[in-house]
Amino acid sequence: MNLLSNKTIVVTGASKGIGLEMVRLFVNEGANVIACSRSGCSIDSKFVTNVKLDVSNYYECDEKLKDIISKFDKIDGLVCNAGVTKDCMTYKMDEDSFDYVMQTNLKGVFNVVRIIGPFMEKQGFGSIVNISSIVGEYGNIGQCNYAASKAGIIGMSKSWAKEFSRKGNQIRVNVICPGYILTDMLKTVPTDLLDKFKNMTMLKRLGNPIEIANSAMFLLSDLASYITGVVLDVNGGMRL
Ligand code: NAP
Repeated sequence: MNLLSNKTIVVTGASKGIGLEMVRLFVNEGANVIACSRSGCSIDSKFVTNVKLDVSNYYECDEKLKDIISKFDKIDGLVCNAGVTKDCMTYKMDEDSFDYVMQTNLKGVFNVVRIIGPFMEKQGFGSIVNISSIVGEYGNIGQCNYAASKAGIIGMSKSWAKEFSRKGNQIRVNVICPGYILTDMLKTVPTDLLDKFKNMTMLKRLGNPIEIANSAMFLLSDLASYITGVVLDVNGGMRL
């Protein structure tokens, strides 16, 4: 069974890591994917529409996403996955580092959902999955900017779960909080810290991008038709 047959799904941050894995999986499961990132998605498929998009740019999102929705009959799903880090202790964190992370991770989700969410309202259905983080739930040393951006995603998503369904539309909005997942994002994290994180999980390992992609696919699919407003932890039991 293809879980995403005939669905059109927008994925941001689709050039590498978790986002790239999502594009691959969703296409394999029968979806047409609109893959958005600044540098472009490397998957060459007639089921992938590559869109160069900087989610942190309000006007670019407005223009390019309106163009996208004018070309597709419907948008069944959206995964707001684009994200960045710029870590340092608070006493050393300058305004640019704080603003860069907030502008991409938090405002970037707003910039995209403010176009796609109301479009889904008009069509009467849709599933939105926003990628937060375990750090947005519990905080982390040296990541006050990232933690704030990811906590904000949870609040926005719960608001949208209420707002977009208020007229009886079947629009679901959920959040995934990954634990530590093996992508480029972890390249700046010291190995001893990664070992510590690994040992904090029940499964004694870090996660793989496909494990987040699978979770997003479930929430996008009709299997999750009665699930909205939830925060799904996908972290190997790190905080039990
Ligand atoms: P990654 O490998 O660094 O990939 C990040 C993706 O975001 C890239 O495709 C990048 O593409 C895109 N991106 C960054 N800024 C963008 C912008 N302004 N506009 C559009 N796209 C942008 O990171 P990842 O680990 O896959 O992370 C994916 C998501 O999971 C992020 O939201 C991250 O915060 C979250 N997460 C990751 C972990 C982890 O341990 N890896 C844990 C918790 C949560 P371009 O550079 O081409 O634009």
